[in-house]
Amino acid sequence: MTELSNLQFDAQHLWHPYSSVQSPPLLHEVVSAKGVYLSLADGREIIDGMSSWWSAIHGYGHPRLNAAAKDQLDKMSHVMFGGLTHDPAVSLARRLIDITDDALQYVFLADSGSVSVEVAIKMAIQYWFAQGKTEKQKLLSLRSGYHGDTFGAMAVCDPVNGMHSQFAKVLPQHLFAPAPTCRDDVEWQDSDIAEMRALIEDNHQQLAAVIVEPLVQGAGGMRFYCPQYLRELRSLCDKHNVLLIFDEIATGFGRTGHLFAYEAADVVPDILCLGKALTGGYMTLAATLCQTRVAQGISADGQGVLMHGPTFMGNPLACRVACESIDVLLDSDWQQKVRAIEAQLTYELNELSTHSLVKNVRIKGAIGVVELNQSLDRFMEWLPGFIVDQGVWIRPFRTMIYIMPPYIITTEQLTKLTKAIKAIVNKLDQSVKS
Ligand SMILES: *Cc1c(COP(=O)(O)O)cnc(C)c1O
Repeated sequence: MTELSNLQFDAQHLWHPYSSVQSPPLLHEVVSAKGVYLSLADGREIIDGMSSWWSAIHGYGHPRLNAAAKDQLDKMSHVMFGGLTHDPAVSLARRLIDITDDALQYVFLADSGSVSVEVAIKMAIQYWFAQGKTEKQKLLSLRSGYHGDTFGAMAVCDPVNGMHSQFAKVLPQHLFAPAPTCRDDVEWQDSDIAEMRALIEDNHQQLAAVIVEPLVQGAGGMRFYCPQYLRELRSLCDKHNVLLIFDEIATGFGRTGHLFAYEAADVVPDILCLGKALTGGYMTLAATLCQTRVAQGISADGQGVLMHGPTFMGNPLACRVACESIDVLLDSDWQQKVRAIEAQLTYELNELSTHSLVKNVRIKGAIGVVELNQSLDRFMEWLPGFIVDQGVWIRPFRTMIYIMPPYIITTEQLTKLTKAIKAIVNKLDQSVKS
């Protein structure tokens, strides 16, 4: 019997994100990664436009992150966090408290973004429970939102994109406001938040929290909206005694041009979820921060404990790399870099906005989105292969071709990405017309 190649074995035995085993996805095998490049098993080197889903902000194989990981590995890779603590976890909490708003003072270290959202939801519900408000158990979120794949998180994702119908009987039923449509370049109208306001006014007695991705709705539609929405939302939550959770798992650590997107609105959430770029894309780790009032409130009677404690909580290896990643970021001129990426994306992609296939081009910070006026699903047979043939790694979804490259990308490398996007649009155009 001849041994199956990795690709063959994979197709027969491995799940990939949102995959079918009957029609397994086309895959490329990566053997190593360095800087902005992924090296494929067939010898090609392609430029990563995705930062491995928002995470690899410093690129791959960063010398400082590698050194930190190796050093920590020699000390200890993991110890349980129940009854024990260690410098990597404490140092990371110090940094997170330091770089976020002064009001955020408590840190829960979670093992993935979805788990940090679960913890945020628990915090909100437990907070009100401890105040005797046991009816405040519902959440209010936005359509086109994405907060993760575990059940609690799924229940606050967009109910249509999130495929809630399959899980209708097991998912808690929450409330949804329309996706915000306000824009930076259009004057704010009170109607921009009217439906959200009405939902809060009508349901505040049942509402534990509102959860949103500030400024940028990521995986649920790559939609951008204006900071004024967040200011209005903050005051509505304050007025009606509802906690506000910001999910900055995608937007955190500089991606939008602010270290955290909430800074653009100058408002502070009660609870903040961080993940993805937290370890610079090295390993899975997330964090849920909260204000003192929330943390102390959960233990209002001196009894309440936060009901979560994963096996790998506070993993020292991940915490140590996260500390180093934050230091690398803060030691760099990241603001300047993100601004330069934003300017270049604007300059190089805007010409596509008049293309007959293109609905809209939008840029925010180091994020570029080309939204087409039709779904890309029917081109998926050949599109991923065509993209890699352009020497880049971009993963379109639904109607969107989008990139969020590592901040270390050079001007020439970024031009290669934007040229590839133009080549993709032109190729799609030929395919549509033929
Ligand atoms: C990716 C993401 C999550 C889920 O994080 P995982 O680490 O994949 O569990 C949650 N919220 C937002 C906004 C995300 O982008």
